[in-house]
This record gives sequence, C-alpha cells and structure tokens, in this order.
Amino acid sequence: MPRPRKHRFVSEEPRATYYKPRGIPLAALEEVVITIDELEALRLADHKRLTQEETAKRLGVSQPTLHRILRTARSKVADALANGKSIRIEGGTYELPSKRFFECFRCQHHWDEPFGTGRPQHCPQCQSPNLHRLAHPKNDTTP
Ligand SMILES: [Zn+2]
Repeated sequence: MPRPRKHRFVSEEPRATYYKPRGIPLAALEEVVITIDELEALRLADHKRLTQEETAKRLGVSQPTLHRILRTARSKVADALANGKSIRIEGGTYELPSKRFFECFRCQHHWDEPFGTGRPQHCPQCQSPNLHRLAHPKNDTTP
C-alpha cells in the first residue's frame, strides 16, 4: 500500500513548464517529467545554493527525503540533456503559500499578510520597523 505523501512547500509556480530540444522531430522525441516539488528542490539547492539542511527546511521534508528528491531530479535533468529529451514540469505533491509570514525582532510578534500587498513597514503590535519574513508560519500562532 503506498504511503500517503505529505505536501511540500513550494514558494512559486515554475516560470516555464516545458523545455524542448531544437531539431528533434516530434515523433522521435522522448520526454522526462519533473514534478514541481523536484524543481523547487533543484532551484533551492543547486541554483540558489542553499545547504541541504536549509533546502529541506524550506520544502518541509527530512534531509533523507530531500536527498532522494534531488537524486531523482538531477538524474532526470541529466537524462534530458544527455539524450536530447524534452522536459515537462508538472504534478507532485506540493503547496503554494497563500500568505506571507512576518516576525518582529523587537517584540517577537508574528503575523501574516496576503500576497500582493507589499512588505509591511512596521510591526502591527509595537510599530518597530525591525521585522523579517519567515519561510513558514510559527506553530504557535497566538499573538
Ligand atoms: Zn513588534
């Protein structure tokens, strides 16, 4: 019986979802499928060069799970590049954030803001401008 898979946190939708090599006729074209959570792992670990620990934290997975995701994703990309296959990016178990989370350095107040409203200038509780964005909500959401 397959284990239910936990959702992984992905910070944004992919910019493009299909890559096709030039000059290979469609009938001869093979395709590899990279899931959106696999792409996020590649983006954070290999493009942004975050540590595996930080990447695992951002995705919300254990380090062994991240290791497995990265191995699979790198192997698919290498297959596509080495063998002239196209890459389709779709699927996977993932969650996009609907809110952004902030914390105040001064009073430790944390709160969320919807996307598209700009970065808050002040802590709503103590008015300090000394705040930072969190990758995930704090478990304790009491003010
Ligand atoms: Zn504050």
